[in-house]
Amino acid sequence: MPTHRVAIVGSGPAGFYTAGSLLDAADVDVRVDMYERLATPWGLVRAGVAPDHPKMKSVSAQFEQIAARPGFRFFGNVEFGSDVDRADLLAHYDSVVYAVGAQSERPLGIPGEQLPGSVASIDFVGWYNGHPDLTELPIALAADNAVVIGNGNVALDVARMLVLPRTELARTDVADHALDPLATSGIAEVSVVGRRGAAQAAFTIAELRELNHMPGLAVVVDRAEVPTGAGTDPAMSRGVRHNLDMLHGWAERGPEPDAHRRIIFRFLRSPVEIRGTDRVEEVVFAVNRLEADVEGRVRAVDTGERETLPTRLVVRATGYRGVALPGLPFDPARGVVPHEDGRITGCTREYVVGWIKRGPTGIIGTNKHDAHETVARLLTDLADSPAGARAAAPDEDTVLAWLSARRPDLITDADWQTIDSYERARGHAAGRPRIKVVSTAEHLRIARSR
Ligand code: NAP
Repeated sequence: MPTHRVAIVGSGPAGFYTAGSLLDAADVDVRVDMYERLATPWGLVRAGVAPDHPKMKSVSAQFEQIAARPGFRFFGNVEFGSDVDRADLLAHYDSVVYAVGAQSERPLGIPGEQLPGSVASIDFVGWYNGHPDLTELPIALAADNAVVIGNGNVALDVARMLVLPRTELARTDVADHALDPLATSGIAEVSVVGRRGAAQAAFTIAELRELNHMPGLAVVVDRAEVPTGAGTDPAMSRGVRHNLDMLHGWAERGPEPDAHRRIIFRFLRSPVEIRGTDRVEEVVFAVNRLEADVEGRVRAVDTGERETLPTRLVVRATGYRGVALPGLPFDPARGVVPHEDGRITGCTREYVVGWIKRGPTGIIGTNKHDAHETVARLLTDLADSPAGARAAAPDEDTVLAWLSARRPDLITDADWQTIDSYERARGHAAGRPRIKVVSTAEHLRIARSR
């Protein structure tokens, strides 16, 4: 049986589903080395999924099973582009799959966006999840209100985290440096503001519904912004109807005297300026109306009317954006690497999967189907490539020797398991799933103390 050696760059869901699919391949023996910039695997499952969503995080058990399979190796603390590059990987593997996600924000492009107190959701989420690059992020939680821009599930995650009571937070794996500031923050009101209407919001019903179960929280919706009866319109998708039903229910609900925190949904408002002298003081919104274009897509059109919302904290949850990989083609308009069925356009042995392939959409499970497509292409290419058309990949020991010399601080799967056990043991003692270690130096110290 032929042996093929594949490098995967990135250890999030897309990377792991790709690894699993490769290891499942029939009639070929595929070996996978997974490269990760951080010392810890699982990408957004560790650094993106909200800490109060433990069920969603439990998908990591599937990744552990994949990592335990023969033929899989994890190489953490290795940065693609600086520690190893494209030529290195092509010289050491038959094929390379990039599963690097979408590593930057989708900017608003408005004045004041970079004022202190205005934070991209990618940073805020990384901060409360203990991403090592973001532990020092300055977050103005002394404010009494916050504005979250965007109507996606990340906007809901952020809004929820801002109002979650200590009793709830303390049961999660939220980073320790974020636990106290979030639990003691003065934020009593979070406005979640969308540029289009309630029917165009990107968030999903399961995430909306969760707000009903948060003690002490009132959800405020302006009745005029959710048209009556819209929830029963058969022309709308089921998801939209459910969203509208839920929003309508909140709009109809009277004042909630027991509530001490509020999430307010506002629609048809686009931020046009963030103002302040040294830091955020207010956000100026354009009031929009909706208009359908020739393709039927509903877009927001500025009416010229302006509204101002005073605040000291703005979280911009307007989506993520892929970043170009050194030496590889890139579509700057979409923030993705162009490909055919997963094989990078113009390349013979390089592939993409996940958000860098299709853009930042879908849920974790979406990456499974996506990985299957890329792996099918890769295996077909390997089967079709005439003998000798590609350099014979060096064996596993040779690769490990090369990589260890290049990166003495390499984190292997055994190292990660030591870190993982350490975090879980600390968490167990405190009644939490884990207490995260948030610095790479500390990850190395724990790994080397084995
Ligand atoms: P998203 O779903 O694409 O939502 C982005 C939001 O930002 C949209 O409401 C969009 O409005 C708005 N927006 C974009 N540019 C804007 C601008 N210039 N001004 C004002 N608003 C702007 O992105 P996301 O929330 O970051 O989520 C990314 C993916 O992860 C999604 O597939 C999401 O479902 C998934 N996710 C899932 C969960 C979960 O399952 N619990 C949790 C988190 C994330 P328009 O629609 O008008 O463009």
